[in-house]
Amino acid sequence: MRHHVPLGSRCGTDEPPFAHEPNKTPMDKQTLSFQAEVKQILHLVTHSLYSNKEIFLREMISNASDACDKLRFEAIDKPELYEGQTNLEVRVTFDADAKTITITDNGIGLSAEEAVSNLGTIAKSGTREFVAALEGDQKKDAQLIGQFGVGFYSGFIVADRITVESRRAGLPPEEGVRWTSEGAGDFEIETITRAARGTGVILHLREGEEEFLSGWKLKSIVSKYSDHISLPILMQKEEWDAGANKQVQKDEWAPVNKAAALWARPKSEITKEQYEEFYKQISYDTEAPLAYTHNRVEGRSEYTQLLYIPAKAPFDLWNRDKRGGVKLYVKRVFIMDDAEALMPVYLRFVKGVIDSSDLPLNVSRELLQESRDVKAIREGSTKRVLSMLEGLAESEDAAEKEKYAAFWKDFGVVLKEGIGEDFANRERLTKLYRFASTAVDDGATQSVTLTDYVGRMKKEQESIYYVTADTPATAKNSPQLEIFRKKGIEVLLLTDRVDEWLLSHLYEFDGHPLQSVAKGAVDLGKLEDETEKKQAEATATAFKPTLDRLKEALKGRAKDVRVTTRLVDSPACLVAEEGDMSGHLARLLKQAGQGAPKAEPILEINPEHALVKRLESSEHFDDLANILFDQALLAEGGHLDDPASYVKRVNALLTA
Ligand code: ADP
Ligand code: MG
Repeated sequence: MRHHVPLGSRCGTDEPPFAHEPNKTPMDKQTLSFQAEVKQILHLVTHSLYSNKEIFLREMISNASDACDKLRFEAIDKPELYEGQTNLEVRVTFDADAKTITITDNGIGLSAEEAVSNLGTIAKSGTREFVAALEGDQKKDAQLIGQFGVGFYSGFIVADRITVESRRAGLPPEEGVRWTSEGAGDFEIETITRAARGTGVILHLREGEEEFLSGWKLKSIVSKYSDHISLPILMQKEEWDAGANKQVQKDEWAPVNKAAALWARPKSEITKEQYEEFYKQISYDTEAPLAYTHNRVEGRSEYTQLLYIPAKAPFDLWNRDKRGGVKLYVKRVFIMDDAEALMPVYLRFVKGVIDSSDLPLNVSRELLQESRDVKAIREGSTKRVLSMLEGLAESEDAAEKEKYAAFWKDFGVVLKEGIGEDFANRERLTKLYRFASTAVDDGATQSVTLTDYVGRMKKEQESIYYVTADTPATAKNSPQLEIFRKKGIEVLLLTDRVDEWLLSHLYEFDGHPLQSVAKGAVDLGKLEDETEKKQAEATATAFKPTLDRLKEALKGRAKDVRVTTRLVDSPACLVAEEGDMSGHLARLLKQAGQGAPKAEPILEINPEHALVKRLESSEHFDDLANILFDQALLAEGGHLDDPASYVKRVNALLTA
């Protein structure tokens, strides 16, 4: 008994045609009209998409994979839906003579009414945006299509006819369905008998698209886009037929995608070796990573993260424009490499995969920047990376701690960029920072934390003292350090280029201001006793006439000359006035090609030093004054504007 359902009249309304039909019966072939939005999309797809045509295969495989996921989900309550076949898979075949490519899955399948509504209408919003995107004068990139949840129609980029044959899991074989369309205004639908559960999508290729009729080509597209689909994607093996002088397909199937997506599997089932192997695959690194973290995050934004910290810095670590190393997947479908929006710039060395359940397939980079889901992912992933680093840094295990030291050596400079970039994680970052210090191995390694420093502070000490310089040797031999050494006060030695930037964002820690030993008058505050202070004042008064003569001699070079208590062994040093740029920073800016406003330094002299004592009665007062200044400049790593004059003066004195 046949029963005709007036499908066409209802197509395009919200209600699927069969929605309330209790007993479905076979139907004759019907021709139905696409919903208006679909027609619009199809027109654009067939007329406007020229680049990256190959993505049709990714979209078909993605749908096949979704269909298998849906079956798995429904079968939780109804295991009979498996019909005894629980191995879910996708098969891709081609027929060079018929010019077809077929993508078959044994997933949930489509009932007739589902075929009509799911392949004939677009339930989701976003059509208008898609149309606008393609109608604008953007490049007509097929990549766009997945973004709007209309991936199925991408088949029409390469096919002038698509046939879908399907049977929904749980329905009898006689209730299969065939859907056919040429991608214009309408499609045909009819009941068929289909023993196999699931869906086959047959693409009849357009004239000129024959390049896709090759096992090699199809395999390369699968491995490019769908390698980490967790289902096996099977293709027939090929064999060279000398008689026919071509490759022929054998009746032997083999998976062409790598494996199940590693990150989608439970942690407990993955070995360390597998994690490391995967890292090497995605990073092209030959060494094992330093650490990794693998988590499934649920909540407002759902995603899986598998993130690695490499053991060695890449050669271009310094390049801030380099995109990060995190690949974006959406539901195990590869979307893009180096999705920089997923990580802050200062964590650009992190490698790995983020697989989102919320993002639309193939969002563009532009959309990623604006997405709130992406923002949540970035924040979550940043926290994970910091936890990973904290885990190493604070580990009781010496080997782990050693790993952190190695990490810091290679990546510390980049991590320091974070202080200005990531306000939310300032505190955690600050604790991860390591510095060279006068208190530990004479500043040979960067191993001191600010917490360590504060723990060693003198009872009366208020500030955290540091010196900046171009090299570790210059730093640790700075004349400005002398009084601190004498009094046993620790000073941090900052010699990375990024340190001046760090200091412009990090001005206090744990309530203690960071204080340069080369800026402003030396004020050790309560660390100096009253007698010392009184004595210094008395010396200053006694020295007044000499100071005035020095100021006169160094006019245009030093903005002031004063006596200091900060020197022990050296005769003089240069300091910057509080609020002025340090000599070190001015040199860095100059090297970077940025003209810095030139602030004259202050010359401080050590009244106890023999050279200074000789100054008062010297016949070569002016020469000696300039030599003191030049030497102070050399000691802090500065360059003499007129080295020849310096040499002449020194020689004159040596021979005098
Ligand atoms: P999306 O995948 O974002 O839902 P598509 O345009 O790719 O959008 O697919 C439209 C719909 O067609 C899917 O939601 C699904 O209902 C149906 N569909 C497509 N391919 C298959 C398939 N292989 N098996 C079952 N249903 C499918
Ligand atoms: Mg899809």
